[in-house]
Amino acid sequence: TRDWRGKHVTVAGLGVSGIPAARVLHGLGAVVTVVDDGDDERARAQAAELESWAAAHRDPNEEDGGRAGITVRLGDGDTLPEGTELVVTAPGWKPGKPLFAAAAEAGVEVWGDVELAWRLRGTDGGRAAPWLAVTGTNGKTTTVRMLAAILTAAGLKTTAVGNIGVSLLDAVLGGEEYDVLAVELSSYQLHWAPSLRAHSAAVLNLAPDHLDWHGSMEAYAADKGRVYEGNTVACVYNAADPATEALVREADVVEGCRAVGFTLGTPGPSQLGVVDGILVDRAFVENRQKQAQELAEVSDIAASSSRGTSAGPPAPHNIANALAAAALARAFGVPAAAVRDGLRAFRPDPHRIEYVDEVDGVAYVDDSKATNTHAAEASLAAYEPIVWIAGGLAKGATFDEIVGKSAKRLRGAVLMGADRALIAEALARHAPEVPVVDLDRTDTGAMPAAVREAARLARPGDTVLLAPACASMDMFANYNKRGEAFADAVRALAAERA
Ligand code: ADP
Repeated sequence: TRDWRGKHVTVAGLGVSGIPAARVLHGLGAVVTVVDDGDDERARAQAAELESWAAAHRDPNEEDGGRAGITVRLGDGDTLPEGTELVVTAPGWKPGKPLFAAAAEAGVEVWGDVELAWRLRGTDGGRAAPWLAVTGTNGKTTTVRMLAAILTAAGLKTTAVGNIGVSLLDAVLGGEEYDVLAVELSSYQLHWAPSLRAHSAAVLNLAPDHLDWHGSMEAYAADKGRVYEGNTVACVYNAADPATEALVREADVVEGCRAVGFTLGTPGPSQLGVVDGILVDRAFVENRQKQAQELAEVSDIAASSSRGTSAGPPAPHNIANALAAAALARAFGVPAAAVRDGLRAFRPDPHRIEYVDEVDGVAYVDDSKATNTHAAEASLAAYEPIVWIAGGLAKGATFDEIVGKSAKRLRGAVLMGADRALIAEALARHAPEVPVVDLDRTDTGAMPAAVREAARLARPGDTVLLAPACASMDMFANYNKRGEAFADAVRALAAERA
């Protein structure tokens, strides 16, 4: 355990990870300075609140050097505060930022919030529960939710940690004692978590995303691959995505740790897969007489979130996510029946291929969370014919592949958002026969117009699919707001037509 008392820690980023990190460090007795580039009204309000919270939580018995408060410096996230002994950064801060060069120069370590949670695990009041980790370009949240449902069905005390719900710091330092954690990790978080060692981990898939942040596909893949470092029981990879298997081969793991694949087809030895609509496990077989263990039926996986009631089978990518979750649970020793019970109990989160309503025989599906082309491609593969609503911030992506693969499923497309021209050009190149409505708008009010245009293009039996393949921030606060705007517009349309 490290002596935190009087230690000068700089927290980079006054945000969703920085504020809790600052509080935790303050609680441990560190002298905390939070730095941020921003200096707007909201940042000032947050800074004032954090500083007064720290003042109110000073330890009266401490002399200087213990719980010396929190100082927030706004408008300069680049210079390293004098005397900094450790930097704890928000995961989103780019490695190229001058603050990190300054830290390197001064010989100061940089940890992300995940690294901080990992280092506090089992020390300084931190809980020692092992972590089952999930990363990948898409499907992380869904998979950790499935995993938590399976572990819970097995009678284990657990929680899904990450983007949604409980934060890692809360899970490690909070009042609850968990048996195991189902942890979602982004490539950013992995980049800043050098000493993390999961019990077992899965990389679901690897497609270009956030390349502007990582600098290259190689650097992005290398950061994802860190999730396998030091695994003890299983490194779970996607048999349909050789890049994930390559990461397993490159990882330095504990002796005896196995590579376990998942596939939508018939599984090979040491794989989980699907045979005749049944999820089967050939990696962790309980009965030595048998070659394979039946886990659950594909139909045990919910097709849509609890808010919708879409009929039909689950999308293929959710079967893949279920197999990955099952693999991690099985690596942790969970029996087959718990996989089935957990998958039955699982409901997807909102805005992930969420069925909204049917209007005039057309189904409306909200996949606002498809914020990159790889995700949107998966949801486009799950329906036919489709009127596709797309557009937003492309984050450096190209659209030739997704349009090429989906062209024959498209009834039409409705485009909006800042980078819609990139999609329009790809459609013109690869699907010239598909009617395209370019709304030429980037305002929030464009969504009802998009839904109306889509309704005009659609025929009974079609699916209108919001799968933007882009980030939302040009038009909406986040993908939730974008999805809600879509659902509101669909409900308005339904009311109009009723
Ligand atoms: P993440 O947490 O990685 O963003 P989510 O589970 O929230 O992943 O799903 C995000 C979107 O990615 C979904 O709305 C869906 O379009 C798509 N998706 C989910 N799982 C997969 C997968 N295994 N492969 C490809 N796309 C997926």
